[in-house]
Order: sequence, then C-alpha cells, then structure tokens
Amino acid sequence: MRVDVHTHVWPDRIAETVMDSMTKDLGFAAISTNTVDGIKAHMRISGVDKSVVLGVVDRPDQVKRANDWLISIQDDMLVPFGALHPGLDDKAGEVRRLRENGIKGIKLHPMMNSFYPDDPRMFPVYEELGEDMVLEIHSGRYPTTKPGDTIFAAPERIMNVVRQFPQMKVIALHLGGLYMLDEAEREVIGQGNVLVDTTWPPSLREIASETLTAIINKHGSHKVCFGTDFPLVSQVDESDYIASLPLSDKDKDGILGENARAFIGL
Ligand SMILES: [Zn+2]
Repeated sequence: MRVDVHTHVWPDRIAETVMDSMTKDLGFAAISTNTVDGIKAHMRISGVDKSVVLGVVDRPDQVKRANDWLISIQDDMLVPFGALHPGLDDKAGEVRRLRENGIKGIKLHPMMNSFYPDDPRMFPVYEELGEDMVLEIHSGRYPTTKPGDTIFAAPERIMNVVRQFPQMKVIALHLGGLYMLDEAEREVIGQGNVLVDTTWPPSLREIASETLTAIINKHGSHKVCFGTDFPLVSQVDESDYIASLPLSDKDKDGILGENARAFIGL
C-alpha cells in the first residue's frame, strides 16, 4: 500500500483563498488544486492509495468547524487528522471527539500557532492521544524564517515531548527539522520512539541522494514515512526520488507506505 502521510486540502468554498495566501508566504507555486477532487485526481496518477490530510488552523475558534469538515471527508482514499490550537479551551475534549468520530490522529503546527510543543498547556492533549492516536508535528523552521525569529518547533523541543510522553505515537515531520537538518540529525535522527516523514518542500531532491540515504539508514528505514505537502509538491516526483535511492525494495516499500499503514493502523 502507498501512503502519503502529509497532505493539505480545504473545503471548495475557501480553497482558492487559502492557496493564494499560502503560496504568497512560501514563494513557490502549488502543483495542483487543494481540494478533495484535486487530491484524488492526483492520487490516481501517482498511485498513492491513501493520503493523510492534515488539518491546520490560524485561530482557536476555527478548530471545531475545521474538524467537522475533516471528519466528513473520511473515506477509502483520505485519512484526515484533526486540527488543534493551543488557545482552545477543552483540547482534550476535542481529541476525544475526534477519536469518537473515527479520526486516527492530530496535526500540531507550533510555528503557525506560535507555541512551544513542550508547553505544559499541551500536556492534556498528549495524554488524551493515548497509545492509539498519532501525533504529526511540524518540526523545524519555515523556508522564510529569518535570523532572530522564534523557532517554536526546534528539533530539541519536539524531542522533549517524545521523551516525556513515551507512550505517544509521534511523527516528527520534515525529517525531524525543516531547514534545520544539522539539528535534526543531532537531536532526532537515530533516536528511538519517533518516526519522521520525508516532506521537504519545494522538493526532496534538495537533499542529495547520499545525504538522504545516510539519514534514512541512520534513523532506520522502518521509522521513515513518505510525505509530500501536496498540493505544494507532487506525489509522483517525490516517490520517484525515493524509489531511486540505493535502498532495498523492502525498505522502499516501507517508506512509501507500509510503515505508515502499520503505524497509523490503515
Ligand atoms: Zn504541511
């Protein structure tokens, strides 16, 4: 089974507005539309069987509405993970509501929502996730982060959470540290109890084949999951690149889907 653990789509009525502001911030164009129809059309071309759709919000008052919609798009192809915001009052209650509605995990975005992942305000969330639900968490900077900007999701902050909540299933996104690969290699890569994904916009090919292979081997290929940040990045290009790495077929099958299937329970 092919699984992309890291995609974003929105309801049709707001998709265009979200896309405009997203690509303006990032400085590069998307490769597809950010809607349910858009991702399914792309999956039919890429051969990805299931895409994890990650909920993200700007404000606490958007959480429930975003999650209602995410709950409604679950099907054979889409596996939505709920959005959460540190400013929401009953965060554990929202995690419970997601679980009761069939959702298998949540996404946290400390950079977008300006909080440290090891802030005790978040501890009830980590406890409520228990041993079954998965936490996918943005790790590292933004491409646009400037010197002096606060880096809320530094790799060592993520690992503080992993160490304090050893029962929790965590995927540290962006190889454990977007645009902070040295720190990720020092803090995350090779550590137990945490998976990483390969999402690296605008292209995983920015990391040379030898470097990427060494990172995968050091972390253990069984703890690496394919991710893209669709619609910013193509599932076809990124899976082609992973398929070209000097790894065994079994390792590649794991990265491209089997690891996520087993870990998330798909
Ligand atoms: Zn993302």
